[in-house]
Amino acid sequence: MTAPPLLSVEDLVVRYGAVTALHGVCLHVGAGEAVALLGANGAGKSTLMKALIGLMPAAAGRILLDGRPIQTLPADRRARLGIGYCPEGRRVFPGLTVRENLLVACWGNAALRRHRLESAYALFPALAEFRGSLAWQLSGGQQQMLAIARSLMDAPRLLLLDEPSLGLSPRLTDEVLDRIPTILAGGTAVLLAEQNATKALAVAGRGILFARGRVAAAGTAAELAASRDLHAAFLGG
Ligand code: ATP
Repeated sequence: MTAPPLLSVEDLVVRYGAVTALHGVCLHVGAGEAVALLGANGAGKSTLMKALIGLMPAAAGRILLDGRPIQTLPADRRARLGIGYCPEGRRVFPGLTVRENLLVACWGNAALRRHRLESAYALFPALAEFRGSLAWQLSGGQQQMLAIARSLMDAPRLLLLDEPSLGLSPRLTDEVLDRIPTILAGGTAVLLAEQNATKALAVAGRGILFARGRVAAAGTAAELAASRDLHAAFLGG
């Protein structure tokens, strides 16, 4: 029997009051893979991530981790089962140092905490350089690196990464997204929500295109890059 995917989403419906944001979404992410979640503004990418981590309830459908339903578990239980979440908008603690921002996100003994800090600094060397600086003193790109590194401090098996390129220059976006292969090599699968389809598909093996709360297309990076749906979705067609 083959093992179930790391994450499966089955017919997921999510509503904000009377507004249905996700209309029966199905998708999966395998262990160790990076999947790009693409779609224009308002397509439903952030809503999916909030539903996966437990910040939005599922009105219908199932979310499975290793084949086990988790859609009724609270967010902290899902985090302990191995889901990491890096929300849109670089939410770091501005008055804490880089090192403190990282340590508050790490449970475990001193040796483990030291090891995870070193891994964070290896992933983003700029963080090592500014380890004693307060987070508000960092540039936007460095804050994004800190937010990502913090969401990896408990070594999640799946990282939900919401629009890391938002507000970053093309150079900094590349610098951040280029670290995804290293994150995968560390044993963390990545679901990457991005409006920047070209950059996301350059680092992800597969892509899923959302349009108006539904999966409009899915395939390998090459298939999606050539797809008319991708262009139509971004033009609102
Ligand atoms: P963006 O890139 O702008 O974050 P997105 O693809 O992540 O877009 P969502 O933020 O998930 O899209 O929005 C999906 C739908 O849900 C949109 O129609 C949006 O207007 C609606 N929506 C999102 N948040 C709320 C809310 N708090 N209350 C009501 N409707 C909401």
